[in-house]
Amino acid sequence: MTSIQHNLQQVRQRISAAAQRCGRDPQEITLLAVSKTKPASAVEEAAAAGQHAFGENYVQEGVEKIQALAAHPLLQWHFIGPLQSNKSRLVAEHFAWCHTVDRLRIAQRLNDQRPDALPPLNVLIQVNISDENSKSGIMLEALPELAQAIAALPRLRLRGLMAIPAPESDYQRQLAVCQQMAAAFTSLKLHYPDVDTLSLGMSDDMEAAIEAGSTMVRIGTAIFGARYAQQPQQ
Ligand SMILES: *Cc1c(COP(=O)(O)O)cnc(C)c1O
Repeated sequence: MTSIQHNLQQVRQRISAAAQRCGRDPQEITLLAVSKTKPASAVEEAAAAGQHAFGENYVQEGVEKIQALAAHPLLQWHFIGPLQSNKSRLVAEHFAWCHTVDRLRIAQRLNDQRPDALPPLNVLIQVNISDENSKSGIMLEALPELAQAIAALPRLRLRGLMAIPAPESDYQRQLAVCQQMAAAFTSLKLHYPDVDTLSLGMSDDMEAAIEAGSTMVRIGTAIFGARYAQQPQQ
C-alpha cells in the first residue's frame, strides 16, 4: 500500500469515529481530497484507493490536472479557492462544483459561462463565519438575499454553504463556530430543497465540524502530506 492509500484509510477512520461518537451515519459525510500543489500522479493514487472527489484552489493548476486525468470518468472536481472574475470561465467550463461563491456578480458570470452541454454547476455560498482578517465570504446577515438571487440562476444549482473558520485549537470553541454554520445551513434547507451540503472541516477541526453537522470535510495534508512547494499564482 502506498502512503497516500494508507493516509486515506486513516482519514476515513477518523471521519467514521467522529460520526459514531455523535450518533451520525459516516455515510452522510463526503470526503473531499484537497490535491492543490500535488501532481496528477498523486490524484491517480488516491483514485486507485476509491477516492473520487478532489478539491483544487488554483484555477490554472486545477484545469491542467482535470485535463490530464480526463480518462477517469468517476473523478469529480471541486473548486475551493478564491475566485477572481477573470478566471470564472475556466471554473464554469471544467469543474462540477464551486465552493467559494460570495457575491452575485461572480454567480452571474458562472451561470452565463456554464456550457449548455454540462449539468448546472453545483455552488456553495462561502460564509465568513469567524475570520476578521479574511476578505472571502459573506456575513451571515447577507445570506438570505444572495441565496435567493443564486437560486434563480438556471445554470447554477445552489447546494449549500462553505466556511473556513479562523484557526482555533480549543475544541469547544471550534464547535461553537461550526454550530453557527450548521444553524444557517438548517434554515437554508427549509427554503431550498436542493440544499444538502455543508462544506466545513479541515485537517485540524474536522471532528468539531462533524459533530456540528458538516456533510463534507476538505482534507489535504492528512492525505497527501505537507505542501512544501511555493503555491502557484492564480
Ligand atoms: C488547503 C485547503 C484545505 C485543506 O487543508 P489541509 O490543512 O491541508 O487539510 C481545505 N479547504 C481549503 C479551502 C483549502 O484551501
